[in-house]
Amino acid sequence: MQYRTLGKTGLSVSVIGIGALQMGNCTLEETKTILKEAHEGGINYIDTARAYNESETRLGQALKELGLRKDFILSSKVIKRDLPSFQNDFETSLKNLQTDYLDIFFIHDVSTAANWNAIQKNGILDYALELKRQGRIRHLGISTHDCQIGEQIIKTGLFEVAMLAYNPTNLEVEDTLFPLCQSYDMGIVIMKPYGGGILTEARSAQMGFSITAEEALRFAASNPYVSCVIPGTDRLEYVRLNIAVGSSLLSMSSDERKKIIEKIDIKVKDYCRGCGYCLPCVKNIPIPTVLKLYNRWQVFGGTDWSKMHQITEEYTSSVPDSQTADHCIGCGQCTKRCPFNLPIPDLMKAASANLRRYTSSK
Ligand code: SF4
Ligand code: SF4
Repeated sequence: MQYRTLGKTGLSVSVIGIGALQMGNCTLEETKTILKEAHEGGINYIDTARAYNESETRLGQALKELGLRKDFILSSKVIKRDLPSFQNDFETSLKNLQTDYLDIFFIHDVSTAANWNAIQKNGILDYALELKRQGRIRHLGISTHDCQIGEQIIKTGLFEVAMLAYNPTNLEVEDTLFPLCQSYDMGIVIMKPYGGGILTEARSAQMGFSITAEEALRFAASNPYVSCVIPGTDRLEYVRLNIAVGSSLLSMSSDERKKIIEKIDIKVKDYCRGCGYCLPCVKNIPIPTVLKLYNRWQVFGGTDWSKMHQITEEYTSSVPDSQTADHCIGCGQCTKRCPFNLPIPDLMKAASANLRRYTSSK
């Protein structure tokens, strides 16, 4: 396993870590097996978040039973924007993780000006800095999907680590936040190396996304600005891939990078990454589910009747009648939260006009 220094934290992190978003779906025994194998393979960084449901609880118990808490650099994140809820979530994170400190604590997904203002105005930033003075967090980080807001935050000089989305479909950070972070000696942790799953899922190949998980990991980790990449890791085969890639020669020529980028030929306009940041919808529309189906309709519409049948079936079974796209009132609350600036109300209209449902559900 190769290690890199995480900016001014001075921490030596494995170049591939563990993203634990889905760890809550694993049993305790599965979690312990994954963590044990990761530890033996030299992985020393795990990232979770209060928003990841049972992930913290599972990790906390597994690390305790394995006696490995201190062997890992452990980070968590809190997304609340009012101080009492933020404080409450921080305490819950420590309790769930069965620890009295976090190696890195991120203020989670600060991607809009309104969010960044709230964090400063509501005392959250002061609280996070106080946690650091008290030693309850060792280092303070920020996660963001927006380069302009990210730039403002980084320039405060208050943060030591940035968690950024980076993959062959999302290259904006390369020329913007990467060099800026370096000039502030901040460590860079990469989330979404698989584009939230779209780059490597079998169904995505039909939509023009067709690179291997190994290529995606090597793409992110071979960038010299990057300290650590945290792919979602909730299966033993994933942790084995992480170890194999992190232990291999991590260089990629500009030709090879170009070829990987060129392999991805997105056939869908306004492609939804399924990240869910737009939620909740005021009318309870499951926006990522509707858009996933609408994106598929855009690819297959009118050409592949068996796929069209599947889309109609899935729309009927997975979206209740009371939460379909035609319930959208166009309030635009979701659009403000979408890191990819998708015109969600327009897409809901288009989905409503094109997606079909089986009447037997009514
Ligand atoms: S614009 Fe439509 S989809 Fe978005 S929050 Fe409002 S009702 Fe929901
Ligand atoms: S609409 Fe935007 S925020 Fe919502 S899931 Fe899709 S990409 Fe993510």
